[in-house]
Amino acid sequence: MKYRKLGHTDIDVSVICLGSMTWGQQNTAEQAFEQMDYALSQGVNFFDTAELYAIPPKAETYGRTEEIIGAWLKARAKREQIVLASKIAGPGEEWIPHIRNGRTRFNRTDISAAVYASLQRLTGNTVDAVVQSIVDGVLAGHNPRKIARAIQGAFGRGLTDALRNTRTVQIWSYRDSARANYTATGGIVQGWVWYARLDGLTCMSCVSQHGSIHELSETLDDHDNGRCAPLPYIPEFGNPVQQRGQDWFSGLPQAEQKKQMGASKWQAWQDDKFQFDQLSHQRPDDRYGTMRSEASLKQLVGEQ
Ligand SMILES: [Zn+2]
Repeated sequence: MKYRKLGHTDIDVSVICLGSMTWGQQNTAEQAFEQMDYALSQGVNFFDTAELYAIPPKAETYGRTEEIIGAWLKARAKREQIVLASKIAGPGEEWIPHIRNGRTRFNRTDISAAVYASLQRLTGNTVDAVVQSIVDGVLAGHNPRKIARAIQGAFGRGLTDALRNTRTVQIWSYRDSARANYTATGGIVQGWVWYARLDGLTCMSCVSQHGSIHELSETLDDHDNGRCAPLPYIPEFGNPVQQRGQDWFSGLPQAEQKKQMGASKWQAWQDDKFQFDQLSHQRPDDRYGTMRSEASLKQLVGEQ
């Protein structure tokens, strides 16, 4: 089997994708299981479905294909081995009046409803439990590992993946509540200061942000598994961070600098090819608005 990257992602999918529209109407669930087992044994890791299926679309069979896939995922416990694509139905007053009255649109409300319902079918009605466990965990301040285990159980995903997501959701929630508290001080706290835990593991984006002062309207937008925190900024007391990240970094022995920044980036920095704070690269993110990560050499100096 040959594999290719899916779009601009880093996900490897087989060039042959298994379609599913016959399952639940022209094929039984048993036959569907057989097809999925066989496809997987031949290296097909890419399955395609739709909320609309089974075909032809009817109220009685709406969502049945996804239910069959959900049952197979549960029975085989191989969720992490396949990439599953689903689709939401577009407008169809005449031919699919059973889906959101046939007036389904590609807007936030309809897409959210469709995705939620699809996930319910694909995970065997555990979405509510998963969402609730995240909310409970965040509110109770549970260890992200504990919350991640609940998600892993429900979706059958890898723990690292689940852990990264819960940690990030949880940490961002804490930060936002800290920011809300600062805002509520009636002008005493005028902003926040980016505080990074500085050691050999800190990425250069966070090093460069350490000690920078931000408006209260801004969110501390680091990356997954971030270890940074917003400290209150009270102008009359000055910046609580005594030494900016750049100064800390400049004080390290050269060998450690090269190790942490990477030798070619370090050389470009020595040659004044970029400013230190450019090491923090901000990009749009669907979940959090923006996120930052360490700029690549290409982003910093372009093609050489
Ligand atoms: Zn970082």
